[in-house]
Amino acid sequence: MYAMVLERPGEQLKMAERPDPLPGDGEVRVRVAACGVCRTDLHVVDGELPDPKLPIVPGHEIVGRIDAIGGGVTGLAVGMRVGIPWLGKTCGQCRYCREGRENLCDRPLFTGYTRDGGYANYTVADARYVFRLPDSGDDVASAPLLCAGLIGWRSLRLAGDGKRIGLYGFGAAAHIIAQVARWQGREVYAFTRAGDVAAQAFAQKLGARWAGGSEEKPPEELDCAIIYAPVGALVPAALRAVRKGGRVVCAGIHMSDIPSFPYSILWQERELRSVANLTRQDGEEFFAIVPRAGIVTQTVRYPLARANDALSDLRSGRLQGAAVLVP
Ligand SMILES: [Zn+2]
Ligand SMILES: [Zn+2]
Repeated sequence: MYAMVLERPGEQLKMAERPDPLPGDGEVRVRVAACGVCRTDLHVVDGELPDPKLPIVPGHEIVGRIDAIGGGVTGLAVGMRVGIPWLGKTCGQCRYCREGRENLCDRPLFTGYTRDGGYANYTVADARYVFRLPDSGDDVASAPLLCAGLIGWRSLRLAGDGKRIGLYGFGAAAHIIAQVARWQGREVYAFTRAGDVAAQAFAQKLGARWAGGSEEKPPEELDCAIIYAPVGALVPAALRAVRKGGRVVCAGIHMSDIPSFPYSILWQERELRSVANLTRQDGEEFFAIVPRAGIVTQTVRYPLARANDALSDLRSGRLQGAAVLVP
């Protein structure tokens, strides 16, 4: 197999050839057809997340087909089309797992962070955390659903059912969640970097009622807001945009420091919370919604060997939609 490997944070990924991985008991080997590039990959590569496995093959938006199966795997077979998400394994025993909050597991493994991921032509996954996908379907178009879609869905659910929803940072996750929110009958208010008229036009094309810069005041008070951009200064901006009793959800795994802000913008029962990871239940719910909501992803395809270019395009904000690597 070959893979794009990160040896040390802060370095470029390097193409490496490795022996084909063998699935152990309870695992499947997947021939990768496409792997999305998520902002979390940038945080891994830039060393903003603690204790990655090193060297690591990044990538946790994997679509492919099972081509080998380890012992004791049930419900999956060679040839099936599957998706491999960020949640790679949980312990099943800690209080969070027992309470049905496996996203908060004390001893988890995360794909492309603490176990090898999908910037490769083959990968191995724990069979219990793999999602079965419809046999037909566009592999590249499906890849961003595995994290931008899934964690986007969890953040939308935790934002509550307010009608007027603000999305801060209109990238891979927001472009999917805007479509879900519209399908649910909500009004979407899209916030982009100041002056990013291309992203604002993109949001409006996807049905946003209003699009503007993140420091702008929306034309209506919002019921809730989700922050996808890793920018702490958006927290007070979003709190100022939501009504009394409104909720602000921080959906990213990493964010720059939040500047201090006056208590008055949190007062009146406004809520601020984060969203971490996903549960398998989130996946079951979300993949049932995808066809009903008619979600169409916008992707930019890169050959696997150009993973570093995909990461730098994401870092600079040049992308519209989601980058996807094809081995
Ligand atoms: Zn656990
Ligand atoms: Zn991700």
